[in-house]
Amino acid sequence: MTDCLFCKMVSGDIAPDTVYEDDDVLAFRDINPQAPTHILVIPKRHIATLNDLCAEDAILLGKLSLAAQALAAQEGIAEPGYRTVMNCNAGAGQTVFHIHMHLLGGRPMGWPPG
Ligand code: AMP
Ligand code: ZN
Repeated sequence: MTDCLFCKMVSGDIAPDTVYEDDDVLAFRDINPQAPTHILVIPKRHIATLNDLCAEDAILLGKLSLAAQALAAQEGIAEPGYRTVMNCNAGAGQTVFHIHMHLLGGRPMGWPPG
């Protein structure tokens, strides 16, 4: 997807503040952090929204969660606690239409979310 911001990060056209990368997953710091730790974990393959997932993506979604788990430990937020969020479509606040898992931590989190 040539017009997708996160695909441009995967291709290297835009250089994010990368904190983790493997064959399937890229993770980088959010440009507008909402917590002391705010990392976005994305699949390298373009998937626009959670509504576009298919059964074959199950392992990929697990890889996003495992990357977030490792990053939480690396950031020192595993024990105090952290939140992962995936917004689906505009009504839930999705602004970049390439799925991504927000990893947020380093401050107390309220519930329910806004
Ligand atoms: P969402 O609103 O769930 O789609 O999340 C999109 C996230 O991407 C927001 O938290 C933005 O701050 C973040 N974002 C947008 N542009 C960039 C960028 N160039 N580098 C890093 N994060 C970005
Ligand atoms: Zn994309």
